[in-house]
Amino acid sequence: MPITHVLFDLDDTLLKNSTQQFLPAYLRLLSQHLSRFAPAEMIPMIVMECTAEMQTNNDPEVTNFEAFYRPFLAQLGVTFDEIQPWVESFYLQVYPSLKELVEPAPHGREVVTYLMDAGYTVAVATNPLFPEIAVEQRLDWAGVGDLPFALVTTMEEMHFSKPNPRYFEETLSLLGVSAENALMVGDDPERDILPAQSVGLHTWHITENASEAESPLHGTLTDFYQWVKAGKLAAL
Ligand SMILES: [Mg+2]
Repeated sequence: MPITHVLFDLDDTLLKNSTQQFLPAYLRLLSQHLSRFAPAEMIPMIVMECTAEMQTNNDPEVTNFEAFYRPFLAQLGVTFDEIQPWVESFYLQVYPSLKELVEPAPHGREVVTYLMDAGYTVAVATNPLFPEIAVEQRLDWAGVGDLPFALVTTMEEMHFSKPNPRYFEETLSLLGVSAENALMVGDDPERDILPAQSVGLHTWHITENASEAESPLHGTLTDFYQWVKAGKLAAL
């Protein structure tokens, strides 16, 4: 069966992003911005706890957004309407400053546009722990924000997250494609490659170290681009 759909992870796949730098900077800025609701030094722990709770969500009736906000509002003792304008202004006014910590991955835009021009359906299968307003900016930072992706997974839309294999099943279902007709490209063996394989997806493991590869198909994003251009994806 030919591949018709290609799914890309975002962080450290299309976007070079040092989580060790990005996450503390993000939490520090968010905590300052929301400090009217709780002591700023408490907020990172609350956000991480509620994120962990969201990651355990396994209820197809509950979005990740709901799974995060339920404990978040309870812990802060606020209503959604009280805090939401502040969360929105954070993402509109403060979050853009984090762009300086990331850069586009080499050949990311080239390989996505090459695939789209060749008729493939392309989606961004980023771990849906963030709101659309954040993911859109990260796509811009990766240099692909203007491209016509068939799907970008966000916390508002999705009901599961990586490494839950149901996240990949839901993504395939939203795209209307069978696993054997799709390829997942990602850098994280535990979150991208193994769970994608477990539901039957083809995988390309983004890694510079072949001995650590969890997928027969592996290499850098530039290697993937060369491989696609050589007609190997079409021949899979
Ligand atoms: Mg990643």
